[in-house]
Amino acid sequence: MVIVDKEFGEVIVRKNAWVRNIRFSVSTSGRLAMSVPKYTSEFLAKRFLNANRKMIREKLPVKDPAEQRARDYQKKQLMKKAREYLPYRLEYFARLHGYKYDNFRLSHANTRWGSCTHRKRTGGNTDEITISLNIGLMSVPEALRDYVILHELAHINHPDHSKDFWAEVGKHDHNYKLHERRLKGFSPGV
Ligand SMILES: [Zn+2]
Repeated sequence: MVIVDKEFGEVIVRKNAWVRNIRFSVSTSGRLAMSVPKYTSEFLAKRFLNANRKMIREKLPVKDPAEQRARDYQKKQLMKKAREYLPYRLEYFARLHGYKYDNFRLSHANTRWGSCTHRKRTGGNTDEITISLNIGLMSVPEALRDYVILHELAHINHPDHSKDFWAEVGKHDHNYKLHERRLKGFSPGV
């Protein structure tokens, strides 16, 4: 459910059977989000919003409605570019260096550029490997984007940041230390 508020713009209301009290947070698009118990009515949600207006204003970095829209647009564009590029770039490097993975996902978390998860297959002795890449990679320089891809691919063989892991990254990206450092100057959040 989405309610439109004069001050905060679109407010995302998430109904959840496990939530006992209403909780406020800020979504990745900069919108205010409320988690409410499953049977909360729109009327009640609005009442809680009104009652907490002052606290929200003071404590939560909600973007103004125009900025929320600009972000939505930006995110959509980035998502489109990412979908047309990242899976192919990943596949290119995987083939070049002989890596195999099972699933690919696009992510738009605020904190991570990518991840490589291993999941035990039931009955098998190989792991199911899922690689996620953040759509925010589309707005960093190509060398850094490639570095993240090679980093996640190297996690297929080394699910840690051990010496062996870095040695493997270094084989494919001789400037990985510089790239890792430069990447810190960017943020994955849109
Ligand atoms: Zn890593």
